[in-house]
Amino acid sequence: MKTIGLLGGMSWESTETYYRIINEQVKTRLGGLHSAKLCLYSVDFAEIEKHQQSGNWAATAEILSQAAKHVELGGADFLVICTNTMHKVASEIESNINIPILHIADATAGEIIEKGIKTVGLIGTTFTMEQEFYKGRLENKYDLDVLIPGEIDRKTIHSVIFNELCLGQIVENSRTEFLRIINQLAEQGAEAVILGCTEIAQLVHQEHTSVQLFDTTKIHAEKAVEKALFNSA
Ligand code: GLU
Repeated sequence: MKTIGLLGGMSWESTETYYRIINEQVKTRLGGLHSAKLCLYSVDFAEIEKHQQSGNWAATAEILSQAAKHVELGGADFLVICTNTMHKVASEIESNINIPILHIADATAGEIIEKGIKTVGLIGTTFTMEQEFYKGRLENKYDLDVLIPGEIDRKTIHSVIFNELCLGQIVENSRTEFLRIINQLAEQGAEAVILGCTEIAQLVHQEHTSVQLFDTTKIHAEKAVEKALFNSA
């Protein structure tokens, strides 16, 4: 079994989910007392969020590159960045380490294409929904048609992520809003919707809607296990 490197804390609420899914998957696949070999470096999210707000992405890349070096030194064979948004600086991080990154958008696109889906909705932080590093990657590298919510709804989603979900707060009204937005994307032609933020699955689950959901946290964590056990992701 390879050692999975996790760059977490963004937020720790979702890193906990990664840790659980990865260990559950290893136990399911190998049985008995098997658990995952992994090395986790968890950052202080307040420092990252401050730089996101001011647009100082170079500073986030610096913090995360240092953290990733520690993960590599800890024995990791590859790196899992436990957030969609911070893949904005994935290439800068990768240039500072000698192990590969298992990219969350690539893992997710793989699942979507496997299901024969072409038009997909995307919800996440405004960075993820609006920028080239994520939406653009899905469109240009995988030829997917990506629909995003309107500006007001994008702001609502972003605010719920940072002011509620990253703080571990589940608010019923926010769930209703997310489900309305997901339905609207489906009405506009999305065959499925990507939960493109690692905390969203704490609020919205597949049983809440008939729209097919792709949970990036679950997909990313499961792909990490496949790569660790079979080198196949
Ligand atoms: N975990 C979130 C994501 O998947 C948002 C927190 C962050 O900005 O990293 O994008």
